[in-house]
Amino acid sequence: MRLANVNGRAVLFAGSTAIDIAEATGGEFGPALENIYERWDAFFAVASRIDTSVGRTFSDDDLRSPAPAPRQVFAIGLNYRSHALETGMSVPDVPATFTKFPASLAGPFDEIELSGDTVDWEVELVVVIGRRADRVPVESAWAHVAGLTVGQDISDRTLQFAAAGQFSLGKSFRGYGPIGPWLVTTDEFANPDDLELGCTLNGEVVQLDRTSGLIFSVPQLIATLSSVVALLPGDVIFTGTPAGVGIVRQPPRYLAAGDVLESWVEGVGSIRNTCRAFAR
Ligand code: ZN
Repeated sequence: MRLANVNGRAVLFAGSTAIDIAEATGGEFGPALENIYERWDAFFAVASRIDTSVGRTFSDDDLRSPAPAPRQVFAIGLNYRSHALETGMSVPDVPATFTKFPASLAGPFDEIELSGDTVDWEVELVVVIGRRADRVPVESAWAHVAGLTVGQDISDRTLQFAAAGQFSLGKSFRGYGPIGPWLVTTDEFANPDDLELGCTLNGEVVQLDRTSGLIFSVPQLIATLSSVVALLPGDVIFTGTPAGVGIVRQPPRYLAAGDVLESWVEGVGSIRNTCRAFAR
């Protein structure tokens, strides 16, 4: 099942058309996606009975963030061996966790307004929580996930490393968390622990890896995070980025106005974001 946010309304995709969930369920679910995550089990039970024969067409510009109102956004640093190696940092003992403040999340085709000249890309598998997770063991962690989507953890490297580390702030400029294009429920994946992900910058592949290379897998992240704090329906986890970011290149390479960043995860789809200069 593919769920998306079309101009603020939750839709179910069938082929290339969108079925408005609030209309299709007589107002029982929706119209906002966060309402559906809040009642995930009940929605999942009725979703297969929704009539998908009469959808509407839509354009990329109509798509908004598939996690429109998370109460918590977790993000993980140094979670691929390839990326830890390229940064020269050691592999952490626990997930290196920070937040992207929720208002920094954006739609899958939104522009990225650059905050400076050291802004970097980080393609990531993004998890959206469906069922509340509180002290969940690894074995049952996937059952708490609504689905997966594609994200970019856009990072202002200057602010990120200011004052001995400002990860949360440096990665939370307006629009620095584009995600989408939709949410794909976990039942759609043969193996959700092994998905190719990558991104291109102006058509050149700059990152390419598989989520099987995660140091802390999605179930391990959910188990660890939920041992500290409950994960709530609609919450978001950016699971970390593989090798190929700009800061470690020789010379470093950063995003510039006009650059087009395209990012994908196998079995989900791709998002595309064009960079523009900071509006002064
Ligand atoms: Zn990241």
